Amino acid sequence: MTHRPTVAITRCSTYSETDLDKSLKEICEAASMPDVAGKKVLLKPNILSDSAPEKAITTRPEVLRSLIRMLYAKGATQVLVGDSPGIHSPNFVPKTSGIGQVCSEEGAQWCEFAKDPKMHHIPGTYGLKLPLPKVMDTVDLIFSVAKMKTHQLMYATGSVKNLFGMVAGLHKSSCHMLYPTRESFARMLAGLYAVVKPHFAIMDAVVSMEGPGPAGGSPRHTGLLLASSDCTALDAAQAIIMGYDPFSLPLVKELYDRRLTQWRSLEEISYPLLAASELVLSDFKRIKQQERTSLFNSLIGPLFTRYFKFRHQRHEPKPLFDPEKCIGCGRCVKICPGKALALDTKQKIVADYSACIRCYCCHEVCPADAITIEHGMGE
Ligand code: SF4
Ligand code: SF4
Repeated sequence: MTHRPTVAITRCSTYSETDLDKSLKEICEAASMPDVAGKKVLLKPNILSDSAPEKAITTRPEVLRSLIRMLYAKGATQVLVGDSPGIHSPNFVPKTSGIGQVCSEEGAQWCEFAKDPKMHHIPGTYGLKLPLPKVMDTVDLIFSVAKMKTHQLMYATGSVKNLFGMVAGLHKSSCHMLYPTRESFARMLAGLYAVVKPHFAIMDAVVSMEGPGPAGGSPRHTGLLLASSDCTALDAAQAIIMGYDPFSLPLVKELYDRRLTQWRSLEEISYPLLAASELVLSDFKRIKQQERTSLFNSLIGPLFTRYFKFRHQRHEPKPLFDPEKCIGCGRCVKICPGKALALDTKQKIVADYSACIRCYCCHEVCPADAITIEHGMGE
């Protein structure tokens, strides 16, 4: 690739309509958002488990509202918004996050991605096929509309990891079973990115999540909005702001190694507004990084899942279940790819750690904050 990818970052201190409209316009212009006139645009926000906006788990509905209005004002013929959280019903509409309401008020079509998906071969995964939404093939442009958050497994979520929500429902759990290490999971995500190929990405970092994300962390006011036509550059910028070396994140490294980035060094990424290096949050509560498992693990992990599941568990912190907080909803049992969890006769969780692959899906879906991760929250 020859051209320099651009990441536009600006300050946006609140979710007010005035602040968002001004900041979104600024970053979309500076990052050369594609021309949307006469086009159908699919937005993929981060909904995860459809939580209240103030928890900072989801992309804020106000960001989507402002973006949908801007796209229609620029001549988009149709805006569609979709996601597929792990354990929701096929007719799921995101109510708690406010995103469903924004769609209906702003004339955007909500798409439940698990409905009528099409199988796609995922490159670099030894033949994995995943069900992705058919609507993907009917739109002109795809935008990842991510949230700046930590992630227990991948250390940070971002505009590429956000695309995992395009995989229909519980198929996501089987991906964790097939790709149990951070590096092998990153291989799968990079392959998914190569298939979806989003045209543009926006990141809501007005209020971000620090600590044990992507669902159990704390909101942190960071007052920023970011945009780029290269998701990988955007995620590298996010890593810098969070205080990570971007190459210490398995997904950024995997994307770079497979030449899925439009840049060959961090210096090639240009910042027309604020530079990521000027915005480093040195006290941001990051996920503590484990010693990297080898490339060997990444390459043959999918072929020897059972062996690597046991190898993996020795090094990674366990999810811990608080019986006082647990409400016995069973969501963690349903999503657990290792079949490591069960509810006892008192509707409390019993965990079989010998079957646990440390994917932390249980932690992501618990509505009662009853699951913590061993060895503390972050650095
Ligand atoms: S117990 Fe939690 S971390 Fe372990 S395999 Fe099940 S969902 Fe994943
Ligand atoms: S998801 Fe949380 S509240 Fe629900 S059963 Fe599991 S630990 Fe308990």
